[in-house]
Amino acid sequence: MKEIAYYSTRGFGPVTASEAILTGLAPDGGLFVPDRIPALPLSLGELSRLSYPDLAYEILHAFLTDFSEEELRACCAGAYDEKFDTPEIAPLAKVGDVYYLELYHGKTIAFKDMALSILPHLMTAAAARQQDRKEIVILTATSGDTGKAALAGFANVPGTRIAVFYPHGGVSPIQERQMVTQEGENTCVIAVRGNFDDAQTGVKQLLGDEALREELDRRGMRFSSANSINIGRLVPQIAYYVHAYARLLREGEIREGDPVNFTVPTGNFGNILAAYYAKKMGLPVGKLICASNRNRVLFDFFSTGTYDRRRPFYLTTSPSMDILISSNLERLVYELGGEDAGKDRDLMARLTKDGTYELTPDMKEKLTDFAGGYADEEQTAAEIARVWNTYQYLLDPHTAVASSVYQSYRKETGDDTPTVVVSTASPFKFTGTVMGAVCPGVTAADDFALADRMAQETGWPVPAAVNEVRSAPVRHRTVCDISAMKENVLAFLK
Ligand SMILES: *Cc1c(COP(=O)(O)O)cnc(C)c1O
Repeated sequence: MKEIAYYSTRGFGPVTASEAILTGLAPDGGLFVPDRIPALPLSLGELSRLSYPDLAYEILHAFLTDFSEEELRACCAGAYDEKFDTPEIAPLAKVGDVYYLELYHGKTIAFKDMALSILPHLMTAAAARQQDRKEIVILTATSGDTGKAALAGFANVPGTRIAVFYPHGGVSPIQERQMVTQEGENTCVIAVRGNFDDAQTGVKQLLGDEALREELDRRGMRFSSANSINIGRLVPQIAYYVHAYARLLREGEIREGDPVNFTVPTGNFGNILAAYYAKKMGLPVGKLICASNRNRVLFDFFSTGTYDRRRPFYLTTSPSMDILISSNLERLVYELGGEDAGKDRDLMARLTKDGTYELTPDMKEKLTDFAGGYADEEQTAAEIARVWNTYQYLLDPHTAVASSVYQSYRKETGDDTPTVVVSTASPFKFTGTVMGAVCPGVTAADDFALADRMAQETGWPVPAAVNEVRSAPVRHRTVCDISAMKENVLAFLK
């Protein structure tokens, strides 16, 4: 088999998969993409008989060609284990005639666990492959979710350390408890006095600090990046689309080759891009329905071919989709432009300079794999209530955005292809919004008490991940000013 090489969307390369994973963002500011998309390695029938880790292995092996079978099998086994509260890892629920792919059974009860539980394993294997014996140091600023998912993924993984910064008083009580109770000698959690942007800027400064990099080098360490543009997060996400199709096949819901639509609640465009890659591998996918909340920059993009970030930014009940610059979209734009790095550089420069760019007519024509839709706050709450009242099935607000968009799409188009709605967070992660929709008027002293009330009222059990942090001892208590982030990192790396 010919190796797959990785190129930056802005021209840098080629590099191997392991180099791309260790590097994260390409040095020219672009995102690494494979030079071709491999075909599905087995028939759909064969794939439908595999366990989740075995299926994930097949997908990873097809893309990450410079890793050995043994390495990749170990990565998959180390990631998709009892950290998830069901051996199925990603169960598929049939609710009426819609299927919900539940990607929230990991440690942080949201879909980022699917990729962040395997990324640390891929990184350490990549470092070994590159004969890089340096310890990998991950620095991350978080507005709540990514921090915990990264901490849970890297905790106690040999050869790695992770420091997470979050805005003091700027995350939800459950999110804060999830982080400050994090176990693992290689973890560090610090609250900074400032907002998320301050913390993010602080982290970027540390990553670009030449003196700090030299100091790390002396200590046998190097920085790396766990954010969602890392190709090591994108590839593992392809696996659950294949898994969803395989499940439908195994349960006789579809016949081999029948198309299936996916509706994906979208922010940074990483999740739905993985679905697109699955389609290009040969998975029979009909439409990819890209669901946005009130921040509908992607809906406008798919309707008009113009990306325009110059607009008001709204805080919504689906915060992980409150995004005006969808970083991973660059990978799609690169492909639409015929893998022309010059074209991509030009469009991205326009985005930086003018806040907008327009696709050429021939690029627009290639958008037909996608349909865009959006749901406002009222529609989102109404969808949570509708699905609960009709089917006694709970949706978190992100999933509800997608579910609502799918209902509208179906009405407007008459497309009745079997459809999977991708469910990205547990309803217990957003108890306030969910209870507001299903049991209006019920309140409780704090989020944990509200989770208990929700369990009482709905009969859905409180997830183990919530109960664990409720009683776990606090291990991280540092609060610091932005200006003191560097000395705190150095103290942690001692
Ligand atoms: C991150 C996230 C999303 C958005 O996924 P992208 O890959 O950024 O498009 C949707 N829902 C939840 C719960 C998330 O955490």
